[in-house]
Amino acid sequence: MKYRKLCLPAVAMKHLLAVSVALNVALVLKLMHGGDEGVGWLKAEETLAGPPKKALQEMSSSGGVNGVQNNFESGLQELYINLDHGDPTMYESYWKQSGDKTTVVLSGWRSISYFSDTRNLCWFLEPDFANAVTRLHNLVGNAATENYHIVVGTGSTQLYQAVLYALSPPNTPEPISVVSAAPFYSQYPLTTDCLKSGLHKWEGDANKFDKNGPYIELVTSPNNPDGSIRQAVVNGTGVLVHDLAYYWPQYTPISYRADNDIMLFTVSKCTGHAGTRLGWALVKDEEIAKKMTKFIEIVSIGVSKESQLRAAKILDVISDGYEKKESHEENEPFFEFGYKEIGRRWRQLRAAAGNGKPFSLPDFPTGKCNFSGHEFETQPAFAWMECKGETDDCEGFLREHKILTRGGKHFGSRSKYVRLSMIGREEHFNEFIRRLSVINSLDSPLTKD
Ligand code: PMP
Repeated sequence: MKYRKLCLPAVAMKHLLAVSVALNVALVLKLMHGGDEGVGWLKAEETLAGPPKKALQEMSSSGGVNGVQNNFESGLQELYINLDHGDPTMYESYWKQSGDKTTVVLSGWRSISYFSDTRNLCWFLEPDFANAVTRLHNLVGNAATENYHIVVGTGSTQLYQAVLYALSPPNTPEPISVVSAAPFYSQYPLTTDCLKSGLHKWEGDANKFDKNGPYIELVTSPNNPDGSIRQAVVNGTGVLVHDLAYYWPQYTPISYRADNDIMLFTVSKCTGHAGTRLGWALVKDEEIAKKMTKFIEIVSIGVSKESQLRAAKILDVISDGYEKKESHEENEPFFEFGYKEIGRRWRQLRAAAGNGKPFSLPDFPTGKCNFSGHEFETQPAFAWMECKGETDDCEGFLREHKILTRGGKHFGSRSKYVRLSMIGREEHFNEFIRRLSVINSLDSPLTKD
């Protein structure tokens, strides 16, 4: 009896239950669609980048997220294809077939300290990870490591914040200007200005920058979103930060060993392990490396050791694939897989997009890759596609055909352009190509001038 008095009335309980279920479903949806580059809530009722509503209902009976994947593949044609995020799930199939080689087992006692290597300037850098990074760069030949400090970050996104902090003069009345040539990576303006810092301020397109005074220019090469190979454009004495997230041999020929003062890399786009949230910076100047380390100490007291040890294993398995004969015989080497798969996708996309109408795609330079020996065109992780004809809103046009992309405005460009991911799951990409071919065969505003 006492218990009954304490309970809420049955109607109120039902309401509470309904609210709780709704909140939980909302939370699950939000978690599953947070995605790469900070895009939050679902843009459509059902998308292929994450479990849709229908799939959520079936979750309990079909064994979780993997079950969901199977269920909604069967209804592929009715669903939205989400190419908005740069989620590198294309690499999942490679890592699946590599079996246990990449498995990392950590006992409960391991890695519990804040510290990794107190002799190192970056005291939270795991030596195994530092060695694996150096080994891979030396193998591929895409960046110099000698006389560089390695700073590890929670994704290259955190390193970007750290580098802004390190390069901003602390006591000036005006924040330092931060620029990058348009179209630029959509996250730069958001991250630069998110705290409305007095230290640094986003000033947009580097081609239009004409202020006197100090500045930071971001040089992203190959570029996100358009895949172009880039150099600095501001004619001044500012500081350059080279974002080389895509300077790997599956995306572009490795034609030189980069030796810029500050270079940013990430496992997200090198190996596909975006969820590990790990990036590294190669920094020449000791003071800058120290300040970056200080920033990461202040905001997160270091970087997950579990992530570093996992990433170290993955990077070492890639290097083993080239350097140890027995692993080479078992599996195709990692970059070879990526090179072939992305190359195939680009050929499919070019065929489906039409020759300049209804869509147009950029041309890229051809070069010989010093690492693989292949002679090929840059084949970026994103396609920067233009809708021709009368359509000004390319993103909106494609959304009507259940294809989600990111419009040009996010990148400081025009909405006749969209960026779409080339590195998602194969079945989604194939379905996208099918839809693009259908659009191509229709009489649409894209074919009218
Ligand atoms: N720089 C560029 C150019 C990128 O495209 C990305 C990922 N989309 C990042 C940095 C951030 O990578 P991370 O996942 O390591 O934060």
